[in-house]
Amino acid sequence: MTRAVLTLNAGSSSLKVALFPLDGDTPLASGIADRIGPEATLRLKDAAGAPIVAAGDLTSHTSALAAVIAAFRCQWPGLDLAAIGHRVVHGGIDRTGPEKVTDALLTDLTTLAHFAPLHQPHNLAGIRAAMAAFPGVPQVACFDTAFHRGQPFIADAYALPRALYAEGVRRYGFHGLSYDYIAGVLAKTEPQLGAGRVIVAHLGNGASLCALEQGRSVATTMGFSALDGVPMGTRPGQLDPGVLLYLMDQKGMSATAISDLLYRQSGLLGLSGLSNDMRTLEASDTPEAAEAIDHFALRCQMEIGSMAAALGGIDALVFCGGIGENARHVRSRICARLLWMGIELDPGRNAANARTISADRSHTKVLVIPTNEELVIARAARKAVVAG
Ligand code: ADP
Repeated sequence: MTRAVLTLNAGSSSLKVALFPLDGDTPLASGIADRIGPEATLRLKDAAGAPIVAAGDLTSHTSALAAVIAAFRCQWPGLDLAAIGHRVVHGGIDRTGPEKVTDALLTDLTTLAHFAPLHQPHNLAGIRAAMAAFPGVPQVACFDTAFHRGQPFIADAYALPRALYAEGVRRYGFHGLSYDYIAGVLAKTEPQLGAGRVIVAHLGNGASLCALEQGRSVATTMGFSALDGVPMGTRPGQLDPGVLLYLMDQKGMSATAISDLLYRQSGLLGLSGLSNDMRTLEASDTPEAAEAIDHFALRCQMEIGSMAAALGGIDALVFCGGIGENARHVRSRICARLLWMGIELDPGRNAANARTISADRSHTKVLVIPTNEELVIARAARKAVVAG
């Protein structure tokens, strides 16, 4: 019998899965059901990267989950799921860590959907699908906001009338599972840095930065929603709210049209007119693609300055996420103007995507640490098994 925990990350049209043994940190399998609907694909691979044969109805999250489980059961006939962990974007004001799913929690998380309408309903649909398929198995919700919830009022407030703060209009921050993972790695492998002032740049299709002091979040670039901060694949990052007033008042754009502009048409895609994908932009020779990359790097530099100010200095900078872990030219562009904060890359180490990419004489250490949000979820799910 194989006892395992399953992690699920349900997006609007995707379901990312990973299967972890109950007693180990290396996944037995992982994969994604993409473009759920009539055109869906399901790709699963085992620990060695070999594909796992998978097929079935992929027209809904529920049926895609069934197809995933059927494929896993073919590979591990005695598979016994001890717990299921879920990524949930929004945990609200008070949740500072993972929680076992109960009916009361689901009801509460449903009311938070108006804070994250594009993500939360899909996350919750994933939980409901898993509860229906595995009624007796503990389900654990892991929140992207939870890691940042220890910030004081002056850090998480907007300068708006206080009544709005009370009803939840405040900076939440996201990518918390990633930052939690990086803080954990630093505490284990570089305890001195882990106890110091670290800026983590999680740069993927979604991107944000976080200022860590003794492993705790004291500032982060995303705010009320996952739109704020640095530019992303299709999101603009920080934007003067006056632009939104202009779009509404002068161009008559609806909330739905603005939402589409901000979530799907902006960022690297909007600036380049070409793609949201950094690899595509790096391969392009158009000036717009180059400007999109340069804008991205400039905004990251500026936010690194902002995070350093929140920390009163910096001991290390950590890159993670698809761009942070792989795009060496982007990393060197970002770091090029940060010598004033003691950041100096070693070009050879940077080109090799080494773990330490700073030069020996660099005052501030620069690291590349592949993030692992799934492992954070799997560990939380495991704890629920132990807790019973
Ligand atoms: P998500 O936020 O969807 O999880 P990822 O963390 O997977 O996104 O990051 C996706 C981004 O990483 C894309 O822009 C992709 O082009 C970029 N990326 C991945 N590999 C490389 C690479 N080798 N060089 C440059 N960019 C890369």
